[in-house]
Amino acid sequence: MANQLFDFGLIGLGVMGRNLLLNMADHGFAVIGYNRSPQKVTELENEIVPGTMVKGTSDLKTLVDSLKTPRKITLLVQAGKPVDDVLTELTPLLDKGDIIIDGGNSHYTDTLRRVQYMQEKGFHFMGMGVSGGEEGARRGPSIMPGGDPEAYHHVKPMLEAVSAKVNGEPCVAHLGKGAAGHYVKMVHNGIEYGIMQLISEVYDVLHRGYGINNDELHEIFRQWNDGELQSFLVEITRDIFLKVDDKSGNRLVDMILDKAGSKGTGKWTSQDAMDLGISIPTIDVAVSMRNLSALKQERVNAAGVYPAINKITGVSKEDIIQQAREALFFGTMISYAQGLALLFVASKEYDMEIPLPQVVKIWRGGCIIRSTLLEIFYQAYTGNPRLSNILLDSHIAALVKSRTDNTRKFISSAVLSGIPASALAASLGYFDAYRSAVMPTNLIQAQRDFFGAHTYQRIDEEGIFHSNWQ
Ligand code: NAP
Repeated sequence: MANQLFDFGLIGLGVMGRNLLLNMADHGFAVIGYNRSPQKVTELENEIVPGTMVKGTSDLKTLVDSLKTPRKITLLVQAGKPVDDVLTELTPLLDKGDIIIDGGNSHYTDTLRRVQYMQEKGFHFMGMGVSGGEEGARRGPSIMPGGDPEAYHHVKPMLEAVSAKVNGEPCVAHLGKGAAGHYVKMVHNGIEYGIMQLISEVYDVLHRGYGINNDELHEIFRQWNDGELQSFLVEITRDIFLKVDDKSGNRLVDMILDKAGSKGTGKWTSQDAMDLGISIPTIDVAVSMRNLSALKQERVNAAGVYPAINKITGVSKEDIIQQAREALFFGTMISYAQGLALLFVASKEYDMEIPLPQVVKIWRGGCIIRSTLLEIFYQAYTGNPRLSNILLDSHIAALVKSRTDNTRKFISSAVLSGIPASALAASLGYFDAYRSAVMPTNLIQAQRDFFGAHTYQRIDEEGIFHSNWQ
């Protein structure tokens, strides 16, 4: 057996794995990384910072034999079969009590299955979301671990060291039982889908609808990011507008094909919300619009059948920019509200005990949806950890209320000019329905009873009723 010199091991030296490993080493941990193909081992070795203790290997047994016990090994491979393949290869080499952490974007049901499987074999297994992309992994991500408390206890000092910090506090916390870590990461990504779609719609209305150019958009987003919309996504959008394409000399954003990819976490969020009966239409629309974007040729054909996007008129540039800012603020609030409302219910339904104050606290730094709004949500949950929907918090309600008029005006301009603003409209629709003491679902109940004898309840009497409608 080789010398057991290393504190932590990592499997999968791709974008996230390599950077997280180097981050661990920066904080004084001795780390060893494995990749099945040697090329990524070489890439790791080329990036080792002098004075840190990092080793790469493409032999799994070398990784296992080099680790102090109990071994602590993080997986950062693609979700799905690759995780199972790695576990199948890895487990015969391990000893009971070793700790395995899946740091990829695994579906939470896969994580639940693996927790059971690994427990039966005598290992600790933990699902853990990591957000922040390449830069976050290297310099400080937001980390969302859940499940096995003993495993967490062993890796907590390392996770706290490598995570992002806000006001000196680490952006990592134990987020609940079972597959809670991966569930929270899934919903984080769902909210991310929502906000990205909202930003793209605001961009579309201002750019295609009002003719505002990239330089002006850069300046608008710069001002927004210096104010109440300060967030990672607004910040990178600001910079995107200035990037020049090496090939054409045009702005790069104008040279990118309008087909958005996805890896599934947004879809999983929508699917699970549907299963739980929770309404998250902003996120649903965001997933749906990425799907529609993929039909490029069909959309080009349809544009021939239904031409004419009208330019937005009758509103000053200053006013439309102000409306855009408030609409984006409003929609972003609603996207968070929907995701957090889903977490509130899922936590109870799946017995995950997700601490919502901790969730928004660790999202304040390092992750893709970090924004100044998280501090407001943290205050709201600190005041009431059992808040079922952040829209019920009085401070948040005041912020949302004051933006609704301009949100309506902005969406109206989009609708009248034929620019799709589906996520903005879904956010407003959700808000209007959520704050409606009366909904038209009495009529739906009447229809259901009419054609299917599905029965209904009355507003003036307890009980279940059925009428002969004809
Ligand atoms: P990546 O760059 O594609 O790297 C994936 C790694 O997994 C590669 O090193 C690959 O090895 C290895 N791998 C795949 N199948 C394997 C198998 N069957 N056995 C052994 N190794 C295998 O992916 P990534 O972006 O780092 O993402 C890793 C995980 O983190 C994913 O779950 C992803 O969803 C999640 N994530 C990514 C980001 C991001 O911004 N990229 C952010 C948060 C979370 P080979 O080189 O040999 O193929």
